[in-house]
Amino acid sequence: MALACLTALGAHGVPAKAEGEAAGLEERARALAAQLLIVDTHIDFPIRRLMQPDAVRPLASSGQFDYPRARLGGLDVAFMSIFTSPSAPAPKRHADALIDLMEQMAASMPERFGIATCAADVAALRASGRLALPLGMENGSPLGAGLVNLDHFMARGVRYVTLAHGRSNALSDSSYDVEARWRGLSPLGQRAVAELNAWGVMIDVSHLSDAAAWQVLERSAAPVIASHSSLRHFLPGFHRNMDDALVRAVAEGGGVVQINFGSGFVSNAARRWAERAAAAYMKEHGGARDREGQRAFQAAYRQAHPYPYATVDTVIDHIDRVVAIAGIEHVGIGSDYDGVGDTLPIGLKDVADFPNLIAGLLRRGYGERDLERILGANLMRVWCAAEDVAALQGRAPQCRHAG
Ligand SMILES: [Zn+2]
Repeated sequence: MALACLTALGAHGVPAKAEGEAAGLEERARALAAQLLIVDTHIDFPIRRLMQPDAVRPLASSGQFDYPRARLGGLDVAFMSIFTSPSAPAPKRHADALIDLMEQMAASMPERFGIATCAADVAALRASGRLALPLGMENGSPLGAGLVNLDHFMARGVRYVTLAHGRSNALSDSSYDVEARWRGLSPLGQRAVAELNAWGVMIDVSHLSDAAAWQVLERSAAPVIASHSSLRHFLPGFHRNMDDALVRAVAEGGGVVQINFGSGFVSNAARRWAERAAAAYMKEHGGARDREGQRAFQAAYRQAHPYPYATVDTVIDHIDRVVAIAGIEHVGIGSDYDGVGDTLPIGLKDVADFPNLIAGLLRRGYGERDLERILGANLMRVWCAAEDVAALQGRAPQCRHAG
């Protein structure tokens, strides 16, 4: 195990409270949120910032992520999603533009943000009171034909790669794509797994087809993550979530499943609502994809059919199940804030709400050591293990902040 890496993270242990201490549960949850390392592996802030450059500021803004709310919620590590749509005409340029935005934001407020490019950077940034923003690439398309841009994006600090998004790409099949073009990974995708291992970059199986995820697990020399996926058990037939066998396999490889908070990922009622809304739109407008019209239709549909928001407890059901079938060392959080629109559960509306999750976990009997694992230590263990695999091949992680 990555002793040096993990030691560098510092101790996040919380001293046990004295027996009979009168602090209320909510107060205790807020204190724990401030004390424990909280890592969220999927926040779509970069794309929101790109789409709404005027409306969005990194301080007190709309949306679900900003600095004041992150601090309020106790968030320490916010993986910024470098998301490229499958239809993007110039994937590399797009991904570079998102990374540029994050670099500019960190450079303009160095006392608040730092781009973390190795696991040890997390401890360094935390020690200086800054929010760590590592980069996760969602959709491997920007890596280019023959992975020609791989070195470029590794140098820019990408530290996990979700091989595909909503459609099969040159690397992998996607869970949303019925056409299994590669029956899993393409030959290039297989090579990408080895190359990402060699770089010490985590491989993310969220969005992949089952076959592709299994092939990643067979091939990866390092534990893998699912950066923002919930459980198919609660939403039968929803292939974007993970089935129990896959969850167990990720765990057996030492990896971690980071639960997506979106109601459509955790609640079957919400998923079915979305299906009914889509069917109603189709009935009225056919396949027309006019964005404004779609938005107006959705607003009217919501008026007539209130959206069945999930709750904090719905999300915790998913965490509980990973704990039950795979163990407490293999679950974490990947909220998908700024990525799932107005579908977030009651009580988990933005990055200020992590104390509500902690309170819910305390209510279910999780102890402080358990919380430490779920909120961040499990993910950091996997990040360190990925760096170890690279170190064995003579590649030290490039840190920006750690000495
Ligand atoms: Zn996603």
